[in-house]
Amino acid sequence: MYRAPRGTADILPEEQPYWRYIEREMVNVCQLYGYERIDVPVFEDIQLFTRSVGEETDIVKKEMYTFEDRGGNIITLRPEGTAPVCRAYLEHGLHNLPQPVKLYYIAAIFRYERPQAGRYRQHYQFGCEAIGDDDPALDAEVIDMAWKFFMSFGLRGLSLNLNSIGCKQCRPQYLTALKDYYADRIQELCSDCKMRLKRNPLRLLDCKKLLCQQIANSAPRSVDHLCPQCNEHFDRLKRYLDLLALPCVIDHCLVRGLDYYTRTVFEIQPEEAGAQSTLGGGGRYDDLIEELGGKPTPAIGFATGIERIIVNLKKQGVAVPALPRPQVFIAYVGDEAKDEATKLSSTLRRNGIGVIEALGSKSLKAQLRQANTLSAHHAVIIGEQEVKTGTVILRDMTTAQQKTIPLNQLPGLLR
Ligand code: AMP
Repeated sequence: MYRAPRGTADILPEEQPYWRYIEREMVNVCQLYGYERIDVPVFEDIQLFTRSVGEETDIVKKEMYTFEDRGGNIITLRPEGTAPVCRAYLEHGLHNLPQPVKLYYIAAIFRYERPQAGRYRQHYQFGCEAIGDDDPALDAEVIDMAWKFFMSFGLRGLSLNLNSIGCKQCRPQYLTALKDYYADRIQELCSDCKMRLKRNPLRLLDCKKLLCQQIANSAPRSVDHLCPQCNEHFDRLKRYLDLLALPCVIDHCLVRGLDYYTRTVFEIQPEEAGAQSTLGGGGRYDDLIEELGGKPTPAIGFATGIERIIVNLKKQGVAVPALPRPQVFIAYVGDEAKDEATKLSSTLRRNGIGVIEALGSKSLKAQLRQANTLSAHHAVIIGEQEVKTGTVILRDMTTAQQKTIPLNQLPGLLR
């Protein structure tokens, strides 16, 4: 027996209402904020990710699905959506459009992680990117939009955490302060954090181990080391967030896991926070487009994992609308009636009425039982007598009431 690869999941029909509901709400919110859809390839040149996400990040070091194709190209299944969208922005000259260009995607993401609840090797992300403007009002708008998503799904009890991690001018001084602070505490750190201190000190701040968290809580804060421009940007952002009445909490340990972030970073957490719980997050990446070969182009984005939204919808008992399905079941008795049933099914479908037709030679009782199981509103029954007289029996499946009607009146009645 074959099984789905570890860390992947089949999305069966019974799960689909959640997916379609989330997608619909996302598309609605995107339209309200002026975002247009973009779809990018599932795989890209490996360099796109190593250069943007960062050589020292978990994603690049341990999690990418990378392989050589038959043409000798080294390609990677996308482990995130921002770099491919920026690549597309550059490749198609989208900088010539009015800025910012606002794009959104819904895409499968691949990361070779240790599978556990809320963490998969293939998961789906919704993401949005606003490229080409550094106005903090845009940061506020993206954060507002992210918050609106979760509110529109009906999720409650979430927290919205915010930080500013500065830019390439002020970050080095901050990192020095951070390293100095940690140098005295190196013995108390977990083995991962000892490595982080050497390779990626910012990530020391979001270690999930209790002792490391306690140390991080007293560490120097990035907001105290911002250059005047970053400081002003952050102050203005906070003012806009106040205007929008968003319930932001400043989290001095919030840094995010990808290297391209600058200035604003934010995350949305459910009530029961933990390593696998972050619902979504994002931030500015003002240097990324330049890093990928474009002109300096500020930008900000946000991404959220759809599986984690579903976990939270279920936990909070949020009901999602059922998907439309055929409401009419066609039953028959005898071969001639079966021919009529086949023709009628086709006619009704052409009239925009969804139909499920019985198959085989089950008894009428068994056919009606099937109609019940499928939750059909109506069954149409055709027997020898009906074929002769050009009629059908229409049965209301809830009340079990039946009436005989002329065949040609059926589409109008059902509609
Ligand atoms: P990131 O690109 O790491 O900032 O992730 C954005 C969002 O995607 C996270 O907040 C999660 O909701 C979701 N996510 C990230 N990695 C996984 C994963 N391995 N499995 C399921 N969801 C994930």
